[in-house]
Amino acid sequence: MKHATNHPVIGIVGMLETPPASSPFVGVDRQITNEAYTRAVQLAGGTPLLLPVPADVQDASVLQDYITLCDGLLFQGGYDIDPSNYGEQSHELLGEVNMRTDAFQIKLYKLAKEAGLPILGICRGLQLINVAEGGTLWQDQSLRPKTTTIQLNHSQYANAQEGCHQAFITPGSTLSSLFPGPHLLVNSLHHQQLHTVGDGLQVVATSEDDGIEAVEAINTPPWICGVQWHPEAMLLRNDMMFPLFLKLVQEARRT
Ligand code: MN
Repeated sequence: MKHATNHPVIGIVGMLETPPASSPFVGVDRQITNEAYTRAVQLAGGTPLLLPVPADVQDASVLQDYITLCDGLLFQGGYDIDPSNYGEQSHELLGEVNMRTDAFQIKLYKLAKEAGLPILGICRGLQLINVAEGGTLWQDQSLRPKTTTIQLNHSQYANAQEGCHQAFITPGSTLSSLFPGPHLLVNSLHHQQLHTVGDGLQVVATSEDDGIEAVEAINTPPWICGVQWHPEAMLLRNDMMFPLFLKLVQEARRT
């Protein structure tokens, strides 16, 4: 850890939000995060630090400064990743995308991994890790072929703080050391899902309808984990998801 206190700095990887056409701030993007992420990091003993999308996403020196400041990274949830990042054309069911956010996040992921920083990806963050590692996505849940008779709704109607389907955790994985039961109740607020899995990654959780719900890096350190659900939102309701954030902060303390 690079800091004098016992609080590792966890970079919350920023993203741009474009105001609606009706707003007088059209053309003035926001750098966004969600309080649930910053709160989860703080509860686990880390200091959250929002890393804004830089004015020039090609300027590697800004990204290098971010890496120097941080002991670990958290890639948050958000909009879709532009499919050109994984060699596909846009499907009509693709949602909002932002190429500047994508370019920044993919570059930062690669630098952070190289620097040995532990990384947690949540929802879009999981998908970002997969794309950065050469994997692909289903651009919409409905495009994923049915391989079971079970049909789950991955865009739940219930409040995001509540779980809605089970995730089956692979025995022997690091994720299973955090969540020892064979399955874990998770929330589900994603219209996309992992398709092919990136090179350095392995699937460590699936849903009952065969969707990929979590991956981990095969070679560690650094510890890299992505989950399709939103543990930061569930953590507002109870402590079930706390081990995930504690793991990130513990790993960050070691870097
Ligand atoms: Mn799901």
